[in-house]
Amino acid sequence: MERLQKVLAEAGVASRRKSEELISAGRVSVNDEVVTQLGFKVNPAEDVITVDGRGIRQQTKVYVILNKPKGVITSASDPKGRKVVTDYLPGIRERVYPVGRLDYDTEGLLILTNDGEFANLMMHPRHHVAKTYHATVKGVVHGSVLDKLRAGIKLDDGMTAPAEAEYVDVRPEKNETVISITIYEGRNRQVRRMFEAVSFPVMRLRRVQYGPLLLAGLPRGKYRILRNDEVNSLR
Ligand code: URA
Repeated sequence: MERLQKVLAEAGVASRRKSEELISAGRVSVNDEVVTQLGFKVNPAEDVITVDGRGIRQQTKVYVILNKPKGVITSASDPKGRKVVTDYLPGIRERVYPVGRLDYDTEGLLILTNDGEFANLMMHPRHHVAKTYHATVKGVVHGSVLDKLRAGIKLDDGMTAPAEAEYVDVRPEKNETVISITIYEGRNRQVRRMFEAVSFPVMRLRRVQYGPLLLAGLPRGKYRILRNDEVNSLR
């Protein structure tokens, strides 16, 4: 017997948290009875589980890496009909959803999957995946600013953990600097807020690396399916 939200997540219905919300909202039935109790135990091989009246089925697991363009919402659907990341996965028939999120204006490496367990593991705060961003900021950044970013910055929601920060390109003629910053947390708008705190507003932000995975070679707006060894290297 397994917990209902785990079975939903593994079937690719939604992340485990979202699955709990579906259960609480009364949208999930087991053998024709609505179940709103979180942690309700089911036998996935025998019980008939439906979400909004539609049966769930175990799907093959798929893991995708997308080079997200800016101006796209990190979501599987948008009620207002704006562009979402799944619009960029024309060949993927499974219902995948993003692992974490990139802001509307952030571009770069995003993983999507229908494996709820994997998504949960990646997003767990104790699973400190290194995420590297290239930030183009306004102004010429002094080395002491990089030291501040490395040591930790005081934000509204507390100090940031130590980070890595290096120059990628200094462009005094354009009054801008490109900095590579690696963080191990995933707070909301974290990189933008860190740079705001040291008075260098971010003009362009691109995630170039996630754990051992590199964005390099993947054109903007394109995706590819991850190989098994790549998926395993992330766990
Ligand atoms: N940090 C940000 O500020 N934005 C992102 O999209 C990701 C990390």
